[in-house]
Amino acid sequence: MLIEANKVVSLHYRLSEAGHDVAEDSRGGAPVVYLHGHRGMLKGLEDALAGKKAGDTFTVTLPPEQAYGPRRANSVQRISIKHLINPGKKKIHYKPGMMVQVNTAEGPRNVVVVKAGLKTVDIDTNHPLAGKTLVFDIEVVDVRDATPEEIAHGHVHGESGHHH
Ligand code: ZN
Repeated sequence: MLIEANKVVSLHYRLSEAGHDVAEDSRGGAPVVYLHGHRGMLKGLEDALAGKKAGDTFTVTLPPEQAYGPRRANSVQRISIKHLINPGKKKIHYKPGMMVQVNTAEGPRNVVVVKAGLKTVDIDTNHPLAGKTLVFDIEVVDVRDATPEEIAHGHVHGESGHHH
């Protein structure tokens, strides 16, 4: 079965920044699962995955424009620590370089702490991978038809998917 719109795709990936060591490897856990054609995956990756099948392995290099966009200048903001997402309500010692999440109109967003104070942090609102050329080593693990419900919702249900 080939990957096209409304197929549920399971894959493993290794992500590295071009010229650097591997930064992320999904093989430590379950495969990543997404519904093809519903913007659940980086556009450049989806384009590369189209037409592939289970067992296929390939490498795709995405320039920033096809990945997380260019880095924007003047993107450092000072915000109150209470606006950082902290599900466990734990006491966290924020440090420069730490990745945190803030709530935005478009949902939670990963940002990087540039400077930490007692009650505020300076965050860089660029995506941590903005401005970077990314190399993905992909292994397609499984391709299946999505259920009508999954297509209607625009995401995968069941194991590794949404539970609701
Ligand atoms: Zn759903």
